[in-house]
Amino acid sequence: MKNKSRRAFLKSTGIVAAGTLLTPSILSATDRRTPAILGGSPVRTKPWPAWPIWNKDTDEKIVVDDLRSGIWSRASLVTQFEQEWAAYIGTKRSLTVVNGTNALIASLLQMGIGGGDEVIVPPYTFIATVAAVLATGAMPVFVDTDVASWQIDAGKIEAKITPRTRAIIPVHILGLPADMVRIMEIAKKHDLVVIEDACQAHGAEIDHRRVGSFGHAGCWSFQNSKNLAIGEGGAITSNDGQFMDKCYSYHNYGNPYGSVVGQVNAGTLIAGNKLRLTEYQAAIGLGQLKRLQGETEKRNANAAYLRGKLSKIPGVIPYKLYDNVTKAAFHLFPFRYDKEGFKGLPRADFLKALNAEGIPCSEGYAPLNKMPYLENAFGSKNYRKMYTAAELDMHAFNDRNNCPLNDKLCNEEAVWFYQSLLLADKPDMDDIVNAIEKIHANAGTLNMKK
Ligand SMILES: *Cc1c(COP(=O)(O)O)cnc(C)c1O
Repeated sequence: MKNKSRRAFLKSTGIVAAGTLLTPSILSATDRRTPAILGGSPVRTKPWPAWPIWNKDTDEKIVVDDLRSGIWSRASLVTQFEQEWAAYIGTKRSLTVVNGTNALIASLLQMGIGGGDEVIVPPYTFIATVAAVLATGAMPVFVDTDVASWQIDAGKIEAKITPRTRAIIPVHILGLPADMVRIMEIAKKHDLVVIEDACQAHGAEIDHRRVGSFGHAGCWSFQNSKNLAIGEGGAITSNDGQFMDKCYSYHNYGNPYGSVVGQVNAGTLIAGNKLRLTEYQAAIGLGQLKRLQGETEKRNANAAYLRGKLSKIPGVIPYKLYDNVTKAAFHLFPFRYDKEGFKGLPRADFLKALNAEGIPCSEGYAPLNKMPYLENAFGSKNYRKMYTAAELDMHAFNDRNNCPLNDKLCNEEAVWFYQSLLLADKPDMDDIVNAIEKIHANAGTLNMKK
């Protein structure tokens, strides 16, 4: 059929009518309408819940009282937040710091990790995970993604362990828990430190135990987009008192704290930094913390509902949680897009069409194991002093760190919805389903007209 006559055919019969014959079960009245990107009316025009949430009546007093007190540097509110955060996560201790990136850097440094060491990381994460490794002078080693769960593939970690490996940073990426039980077994066998990057996983659980309490340390971010939002902020959680004393000292110029003690009048003990949270940040956090559990429950209920509906659409492959996961944080709701289920419509065009229907969505991360920052780090004075030219050779690095499944996930498959969509109600989830079904039903037309 020539293009023109095919168009005329589609126009006279309606592409959707043709689609109806093939997949009658998933088509609703919505699907018969023209896609918004082709001039039809969008499935949704109602706004989605805003983020962060601020309740003037319950959240403001503690912040304003603090502002009026003039006690703005670290004092009792920061300590209170740390106590409540440790209790929530289920660790003995918590230390707040300026952000998640520095929670990771402080943890790595106080675990004694630095130049010449190798640290195992996933390629599917936010840049800060790897930036933290580079900040210590250690060498990141990438392990491919388990694309079903979107997490580091624990089954591929051991093949990457060398005599130089010192640590693993599992990231509970998107707020879905990594395979912690298996990772801790591997770490124990090879005597490795485990630092959980839980910056997207507030309230996520494995066997009813919260993530951030499995590794030797857990690292958190309270940046504005995160599920507990303070604007900026971070924390370290751990059961290791001596390690936490060192982190405290480090975050406070290296001054003595707890078990970090020297001779009287010896002065500053360790090479420190300055990473303290402010009182008004802690005051904001205390308000947000009151809502976290309720919000987490709501995200889980809506995610389960949405997942169930979306899994019936050909070409939509929802995330899988490991069997022992009892709760996820759903900082993002992901699915894999298979264009074969959408008549060959490329992901970029699917995303444009879905956004046009009033459903905000994104393609997510690019592969972190092949970006220019690595070459920049390896070309730095410090790296050139700490490693041989062969160790810093980019071609060899790329060969060692090839992650083909992650490449495909990033470049062709990943689709994300942001966590605040999951704070809407059940009928709002149906809008997401209806919009994707509409695009599915009209995929042929969309692919032809793109
Ligand atoms: C946000 C984030 C970080 C860094 O946290 P900041 O507070 O922005 O420094 C680290 N890792 C992951 C996975 C994150 O999502």
